[in-house]
Amino acid sequence: MIRLKRLSAALQSAYPDADAMLITHPVDVRYLTGFTGSNAAVVLRLQRPGNARRHSRLSKPVLFTDGRYIQQAKQETKYAGVVIAQGPILREACASMVSAGVRHCAIDAEHTTVATLDGMRRWIPSKQRRGFFQPVLPVAAGLREIKDAEEIGRLRAAAKLGCELFEDSLTQIEPGKREVEIAAHLEFAARVAGAEGMSFETIVASGPRSALPHGPATEQRMPRRGFVVLDFGVLLGGYCSDMTRTVHLGAATTAERDAYEAVLEAQLAAIAAVRPGVPCGEVDEAARRVLRRAKLADFFTHSTGHGVGMEIHEGPRIAAKQQQTLKPGMVITIEPGIYLPGPFGIRIEDMVLVTRGGAEILTPATKAWIEL
Ligand code: ZN
Ligand code: ZN
Repeated sequence: MIRLKRLSAALQSAYPDADAMLITHPVDVRYLTGFTGSNAAVVLRLQRPGNARRHSRLSKPVLFTDGRYIQQAKQETKYAGVVIAQGPILREACASMVSAGVRHCAIDAEHTTVATLDGMRRWIPSKQRRGFFQPVLPVAAGLREIKDAEEIGRLRAAAKLGCELFEDSLTQIEPGKREVEIAAHLEFAARVAGAEGMSFETIVASGPRSALPHGPATEQRMPRRGFVVLDFGVLLGGYCSDMTRTVHLGAATTAERDAYEAVLEAQLAAIAAVRPGVPCGEVDEAARRVLRRAKLADFFTHSTGHGVGMEIHEGPRIAAKQQQTLKPGMVITIEPGIYLPGPFGIRIEDMVLVTRGGAEILTPATKAWIEL
């Protein structure tokens, strides 16, 4: 209920005209009601206050879903009424708003297609249609940036499983083995350990492929010597983990060792910069500064990190010049990397919780040099 209250407060301050909100992004539906089905919409109505009251009252939200989810909706849905729609769920959701006298409904501009919006407009009587739907920037996604204690517990568990899987993968990495075999072993172990799935396509990038910032596992056989970048995450209890480690097969050159140390130093510097009140751009700059000193900054071609939670990429963005400040309860990744086309790439990524006093690393797997 706290989440719904926070959502209505956020909606009111950003879009005071809206007297209802339609939530259709499945992750937001789950966040607000607990329902995990694939076809659902939530109507949240705000009753306009009388003159004396400052805040709108929130009427009980209603979740619309279809007949496949009768049992599941009853079991999972908290803080919302459930309507099993006979036809399209959005048609029933629209009809309920019209009959409740809604005039301006906020809809998620990022997750509503043009076709969906066209269809919904037709379900609103023509006299009320003009200005009925107001596309707004995702309000729920903004709330999800700050995790509560339960969410932090789940992210901690997902991150811990990720670290265990990494340790296990080390026994699998050897010259001649295909990258997909490492990914398959890791993903099988993740499911056996209880993960619902992976939070994104597992990256196993070996040898020259390590220079691809995003190199999903391929049929490529691992070389006798060279870097192997492992970047992967599990989805556990509805929450994503995300971590990267780079290990080396065979003996490394001094240049390779030095480059690894520089990336690690950059990663530690960025983590050291994490604390409440700090603009995200400063955290990014802390990593970039170290790599500039090592004359490697030109090869650091992406941002330093991102928020992570129910989705693998959430706010805030940890990137150059980002003014948004860190707040306690945010969980972000810190993942500087360098990519030297031809020779090799290196990336090191942790999940970090912003605490009142600074930062806590949720992915304790070692970052020391590993030579296999
Ligand atoms: Zn990652
Ligand atoms: Zn990441």
